[in-house]
Amino acid sequence: MKFGATIEEQYDSFLRRDESARQWGEKAERVTPVVRYTNYQLRATRGVGPGWALCGDAFGFIDPVLSSGTLLALDGARALAKAISDGSARAFRRYETRVITNLDDWSRIVDAYYSGRLFTLFKVGEYVRHTLLGRLTDWHFRKHLPRVFTGEATDSRYSMYMVDFMLRYGLAGNDPAEFSVR
Ligand SMILES: Cc1cc2nc3c(=O)[nH]c(=O)nc-3n(C[C@H](O)[C@H](O)[C@H](O)COP(=O)(O)OP(=O)(O)OC[C@H]3O[C@@H](n4cnc5c(N)ncnc54)[C@H](O)[C@@H]3O)c2cc1C
Repeated sequence: MKFGATIEEQYDSFLRRDESARQWGEKAERVTPVVRYTNYQLRATRGVGPGWALCGDAFGFIDPVLSSGTLLALDGARALAKAISDGSARAFRRYETRVITNLDDWSRIVDAYYSGRLFTLFKVGEYVRHTLLGRLTDWHFRKHLPRVFTGEATDSRYSMYMVDFMLRYGLAGNDPAEFSVR
């Protein structure tokens, strides 16, 4: 470990590296234990109840890597506003299902990034598109895949289906471990 063996040592030497933090912390006394926060992911199992509803990060946050946080917060806020103006229990259930589906979808998308399957797919695409089948289908995949990973079409069932299908069957026997992020 670059900063020390224990989390206390790591925290202290990290603070010492920064001139301002070092000055401010000269006479500081630790009053709470040092805790390490490595998993940003959190998800509520319920999003609505009598007189309350969760939205944005309060409902769930998946991962910082693909910047889904703001998208999900804004999409959720819009959907919740719609449910509130409708006012029926059905509308609130629809809202809850929408957010849960979004969180599920982004979990799979982010997993494709960390597991290396996303970049393996790009690699396969590079050589498959020179084949006859590739030339016939490449435009279709190029249309849907980036739109899902940028968030533009994550709520399109068809685009999500395409991505799931490709991640499952399109790796052509390549081992995604080569591109996995640990
Ligand atoms: C360092 C950092 C970088 C990020 N970068 C990105 C990025 O590049 N792209 C991206 O998409 N997402 C990013 N995110 C995630 C994104 O910021 C959040 O997912 C998003 O802001 C969630 O929106 P929200 O409205 O749910 O919560 P917030 O934006 O956290 O809003 C909650 C608001 O409620 C207020 N509040 C809290 N308690 C109370 C209270 N009791 N009474 C009144 N008000 C209260 C808070 O002050 C805050 O203003 C980043 C997050 C962090 C921490």
